[in-house]
Amino acid sequence: MTATTKDLQNIDNAHHLHPFTVHHELRETGPRVITRGEGVYLWDSEGNRIIDGMAGLWCVQLGYGEQELVDAAADALKTLSYYNTFFQTTTPHAARLAQLIAEKTPDGLDQIMFGSSGSESNDTAIKLIWYYWNLKGKPEKKTIISRERAYHGSTVAGASLSGLPFMQGIFDLPLPRFHHVGPTPHYYEYGNPGETEKEFALRCAKAVEDKILELGPENVAAFVGEPVMGAGGLMLPPEGYWQEIEKICKKYDVLLWSDEVICGFGRTGEWFGCQAYGYTPDIMTMAKGISSGYQPLSAVAINREMADAIVNADSEMAHGYTYSGHPVVCAVALRNIEMIEELGLVGARGEEISAYFQKKLAALDDHPLVGQTRGIGLLGGIELVKDKSTKERYQPEGEAGLICRRHCFENGVIMRAVGDTMFLCPPLVISKDEIDELFDLVRKSLDLSHKELS
Ligand code: PLP
Repeated sequence: MTATTKDLQNIDNAHHLHPFTVHHELRETGPRVITRGEGVYLWDSEGNRIIDGMAGLWCVQLGYGEQELVDAAADALKTLSYYNTFFQTTTPHAARLAQLIAEKTPDGLDQIMFGSSGSESNDTAIKLIWYYWNLKGKPEKKTIISRERAYHGSTVAGASLSGLPFMQGIFDLPLPRFHHVGPTPHYYEYGNPGETEKEFALRCAKAVEDKILELGPENVAAFVGEPVMGAGGLMLPPEGYWQEIEKICKKYDVLLWSDEVICGFGRTGEWFGCQAYGYTPDIMTMAKGISSGYQPLSAVAINREMADAIVNADSEMAHGYTYSGHPVVCAVALRNIEMIEELGLVGARGEEISAYFQKKLAALDDHPLVGQTRGIGLLGGIELVKDKSTKERYQPEGEAGLICRRHCFENGVIMRAVGDTMFLCPPLVISKDEIDELFDLVRKSLDLSHKELS
């Protein structure tokens, strides 16, 4: 007998703890049950079709149910369902995937270590950074600087790295050695009246330099940032920001770490966000789009200088996971990256679709509830405000976002809300007709939200 929605909700409510959830609230209503996906669409247990404007959790680049990825997984499962990459062993898929990623990363970042999640790869990055400075005879270089409102994951280290206090205080985090710097590089919200975007970019970068000097450059190991800040509010860097950050990191011998977990694998139009914004990090972390979310996979890429120190070290690099380089996971990711390339999603088709998406996004600027739209590639942010000219928000803050998210769901489109910012991040395979449908539903949801809020 097939379980009803209510049965599934009851089972879930009885036993399942969900990420980032106020549980007593969830248990009053019961979770939405998603049962099927195809292309850019999802279906729930009540048979409703929903267009997924968020590619799952920013990850389903190729859309749902791509048969080639199913076949890649099935073939790999039949041939070698598991083996590890410890004990001087590799597997064909892990070796070939490392090579393929190294071809896509900026020059020199060609040494790859695998994990299973973005948070895990960020933990790996932290350990590799600390290990590197120990090997270089600078063991005091341990502090890592990140940005206020950054999101870098939810493990102990990932949450410490993130600049979101609501993720930290309840767990007695952050750990020592992690510092967060404001202002968040988001001109719309933090730019001063009369300040140009370039001046703002310099102020944001200068704040990082000031923090390095305050901590002492001899103590600072790395600066980490998301090319476009994602989960903290979809914030695009002000013009020239990353170039300044790159200069400052070089000046003080601080490693530059680009967290590409959202921006990697075509999301911004290039393979990686750092390529879209024209800077070269020393270390990169990636996940999500690496496998289109079909299998849990993440990776860290380090440059030659870091790799030389680690490869030539006498000590064992005593770090790694049971599933580092899992053969089935790597087989799926390999085919996924090949398909992103073959379909031109980083390339001509990606450019055309992104331009169309950005045009439709910008067309929402005329909506009375919209204070600003912003985006790059297939990423879009929509700022909900009460007054467009003063940027005044509805009170309490975050309410407008929740109302809009509800209307989106009720109208068959998924947009995520963080505070009063709505996000769009559809699968890269979305067509122009589907983009039209997406924005028709978004506009309808904005109209209904505006009516409810007025
Ligand atoms: N880094 C960034 C920039 C992210 O956006 C995320 C997740 O959204 C992570 C790290 C953590 O990835 P995961 O949820 O796979 O641990």
